[in-house]
Amino acid sequence: MGPDRLIRAPHPGTAHPARHAVPAAPDPEGPSCAAGAVSENTGRNGVREMAYQHQSPPPGEGTWRPATNRAQETTPPDDEGSVPNIADLTERLRFSLRDGHIWFDTQRVALIHVSTLAWLRRELIHKLGVPEAKVLMARMGYASGCRDAILARKLRPHRSIEDALLVGPQLRALQGIISVQPGKLDADIAGGHFSGDLTFTGSFEADAQIAHAGLTGEPTCWMQAGYASGYVSTFMGRRVLFKEIECHATGSQCCRMIGKPIEDWEVVEEEWKDLQGDAAAGGGSRPHEPQQAPGAAPDTRLPECGDRNFIEGVVGVSSGFVAACRMLQKAAGTNATVLLLGETGVGKEMFARMLHGMSRRADKPFVAVNCAAIPETLIEAELFGVEKGAYTGATQSRAGRFERADGGTLFLDEIGTLTMAAQIKLLRAIQAREIERIGDTGTRHVDVRIVAATNVDLKSEAKAGTFREDLLYRINVFPVRVPPLRERRDDIPLLMEHFLQRYARCHERSVSGFTARAVDALYEYEYPGNIRELENLVERAVILADDAGLIDINHLFAPEDLQSSMVFKLDAKGGLQQGADDPAHTAARFTDVFDAMVADGLSLEAIECELMRRAVDRSNGKVARAARLLGMTRPQLAYRLKKLDGDHPE
Ligand SMILES: [Zn+2]
Repeated sequence: MGPDRLIRAPHPGTAHPARHAVPAAPDPEGPSCAAGAVSENTGRNGVREMAYQHQSPPPGEGTWRPATNRAQETTPPDDEGSVPNIADLTERLRFSLRDGHIWFDTQRVALIHVSTLAWLRRELIHKLGVPEAKVLMARMGYASGCRDAILARKLRPHRSIEDALLVGPQLRALQGIISVQPGKLDADIAGGHFSGDLTFTGSFEADAQIAHAGLTGEPTCWMQAGYASGYVSTFMGRRVLFKEIECHATGSQCCRMIGKPIEDWEVVEEEWKDLQGDAAAGGGSRPHEPQQAPGAAPDTRLPECGDRNFIEGVVGVSSGFVAACRMLQKAAGTNATVLLLGETGVGKEMFARMLHGMSRRADKPFVAVNCAAIPETLIEAELFGVEKGAYTGATQSRAGRFERADGGTLFLDEIGTLTMAAQIKLLRAIQAREIERIGDTGTRHVDVRIVAATNVDLKSEAKAGTFREDLLYRINVFPVRVPPLRERRDDIPLLMEHFLQRYARCHERSVSGFTARAVDALYEYEYPGNIRELENLVERAVILADDAGLIDINHLFAPEDLQSSMVFKLDAKGGLQQGADDPAHTAARFTDVFDAMVADGLSLEAIECELMRRAVDRSNGKVARAARLLGMTRPQLAYRLKKLDGDHPE
């Protein structure tokens, strides 16, 4: 179904009488926001479903309306007509106890008391007055709406627009914010048309208002209207403003808001500007003003493959990453020699390029030398150049990297591997700003900013006599530590997206994302090879994954590379479960196998026997390991194996 598919719901009042009808206008006395409009049902596999019932619409029409338990029974969900199970959203939610982080897909989230939010709202009103507090709360909602819309488009790329748009209300319920009820919604992305009329219940803003100051004359769900504006605007790729027109805090039974493009409202430019907020707010992840073409993917400002002008791969939000960037910013305006410290693969060259890009030398050359990659006998010639006839084979003069970097930046990676002779020459080049080509009688002036990098401890190298102490003092003017990836896990989701998009473009693949299991595994991995290893994993997976499919765990890792998990996820009942998949999902993956086994009349005993044998085989006969594979203790498995041998003596 293309993006131009029209979602057109007749006004609730015109709903087919045979179905659960929604009154045309919210009637304070009426059942429009009665409990159960958005209910939770226990589906066939025990998974709770958000019971929006979406009927198969006649061409050009779609109707959203609530499903009662009865409707659920009489109308079993099918692929076309039912509202998507929220399992694709809940499986993106994971709790990492090791880091004290909760992730919703690639966004870090936090559980916060609703009473704290209510307190914050009260404080804002008290300190700033209602108009300012309203703007701030609306802006907060707008920012989350923008983020969720990007997620919505990513998570259900191959589903209908109805399904993708429904992510918003489903997320709001999952986040514990509000329960949005079906109403009038008319959306046409290609035509740029949108109008929405939605009711919702459970708003903490209304409750907070009533608890704090009793009923009021004005709608108070500022954050919710802001969220809907941000969500629909980003989703539609055009400016859509929602306004709350009835509110529980004014005495209505439920809240109601309507949304339409800002051109269709009268005088709302100011309100819209207020929602956008200060352009500087929110740092790098500021929700964007939706000005892109309708249907276009969000602008993530990623470099083109092979575009060397862009500071490639400098991606991160973690405190370790930001601290390193701040240090480099401080050094950028000076000519100070910078020493980058960090393990192999943390991206020291990218940081060096970033420093060069921020410096006054940005339009001059950036020359990188990996000292460890050049043979000892050639390193001096490589760095300082050669005069014709300096040695056999030097048939013509050539400039070294120092001269080529004149006016710009010279990046010396793995500087600890330089020979003593090269170290002396380097020291002179830094001190006197002049170099001497091999075989040359004179010296040449060079203006080069040195950025050195090492993954060894140069101080102990100096103590051991393999690195010159005077050179160490010269280059250790401004040391900056780049932390390993396992210390900046907040950056993993961003880097995953970054490399996915880069290599999908590079290899002309249309891989659409990662499965939840793959995200978990990548988040948990220790990365001895750091960012470079993550990059390689993602590139290989992009090539291995099915076209238009998702990257799964088997595209990334061999089973033995996976580590035990400290991640907890929601199970089917909404509780937390460690590591392994939801059993309902596991069952779903093996449906065909189970069906075949039942059809063949395979006994439970035979299946159990076969599973145990295979686990033992896979574990090379080690019972403890086999027991772990089967989720049993060693004694349990040993007992059963013994029983098995007794029953079937061989
Ligand atoms: Zn309200």
